[in-house]
Amino acid sequence: MNGDPALISYIEGMQDRYIGAYEQGLPGPLLICIGAMHGNETAGVKALKMVLKMLEVEPVTNPDFRFHGRFIALVGNRGALSMGRRFLDRDLNRIWLDGPQSLTDREARERMELESAVESEIARTDRPIVLLDLHTTTADGGIFTFPDHSAAGIKLGSKLGAPVILEMVDLLPGTCMEYFSRKHDTRLTGLAFEGGQHNDPASVNRMIAAVVSCLRAMGCVSARHIAHEHDRILEQYSLGLPAVSRVLYRHGFTARDEFLMNPGFANFDPIREGAMLAHDRSGPVCAPRSGLILMPHYQQQGSDGFFIIEEMNLVQ
Ligand SMILES: [Zn+2]
Repeated sequence: MNGDPALISYIEGMQDRYIGAYEQGLPGPLLICIGAMHGNETAGVKALKMVLKMLEVEPVTNPDFRFHGRFIALVGNRGALSMGRRFLDRDLNRIWLDGPQSLTDREARERMELESAVESEIARTDRPIVLLDLHTTTADGGIFTFPDHSAAGIKLGSKLGAPVILEMVDLLPGTCMEYFSRKHDTRLTGLAFEGGQHNDPASVNRMIAAVVSCLRAMGCVSARHIAHEHDRILEQYSLGLPAVSRVLYRHGFTARDEFLMNPGFANFDPIREGAMLAHDRSGPVCAPRSGLILMPHYQQQGSDGFFIIEEMNLVQ
C-alpha cells in the first residue's frame, strides 16, 4: 500500500460516483441528478441521499406509490469533493467542450468517468431524459434555475418554483448540462438549479424540493405522492423575485486581475449603471448597466466576478 498519508486520506475520502438509483421497473422517463459538480458545494449530495431515502420509504407508508421511470444520482467532482474545494486543477463545469481534450489533469479524468456513467444510463432507455445539475452559490439571497436552450427546458425550469434565468448557458461555455443537452438534443433536457448559499442548511431542503418538483413535472411520481414539508419552500423563498430573467452581462476575470468583490451584495440585489461593485488591479469595477446582480464572487476559486440580469415581462 502506498504510504503517503495525504494520498491515502484523499482516496479514502472519495465518495463513490454513484450516490444511488431508484426505480420500480415501470416504464417512464429518466432523471439524472448530479451533486457536487463543484466540490465545495456539498448540499446537492446531501439532498440526493435524502431523496433516495424518501423514495425508499414511500411504499412503506403509502402502498399506492408508483414510480415511473428511473432516478439516478451521481457525484460530479469526486476528487474536489473529498478535498472540500471547488476544483483541483480546472473547473469541472467549464471543460465540457467538443474537440480534443487534454487528459493530463484530475478534472479531465473526472469528466471522462462522469461522461461514461451518464452515457451508460442514457443507453439504457429510449424515453425522455432530464439532467438536473445541483449547485449552491457563495452569496445569499435567492435561488434560481437556468435551463438549456430548449422550450422544454424553460417549461420544466418554470415548474420548479424558482426564478428562471435565460441565456446563462451562453455566457458559461463548457458546462456539463449544456454539453449533454446539445449531444442528445431532442432526447435530453438540461437544467441547472442553484439552491442558495453553500453552507446554509436550508439549501439542502430547497434542493430536495427542486428534485421532487422535477420528478413530478416529468411524471415519474404523481402530485399526491411524496408529500413533503418542503413542498412550498421554493415558492416561499422565491416570493418577490422575478419569475423569468435574462442575463445582460458577465464580468469575468483571471487570477492576474486581483478581482475583489465589494462586500454585502446578495443575489437579485438591484444595481444602477455606474455603481461601484468591485475592485481589481486597474481600480474600481463599475456596473456597465442597471439591473439585478447575480452570483457576486465571494470565494477563492473561479473566474466569474458577477452577472447582471434583467426581468423579462412575458406576455400572459
Ligand atoms: Zn457550482
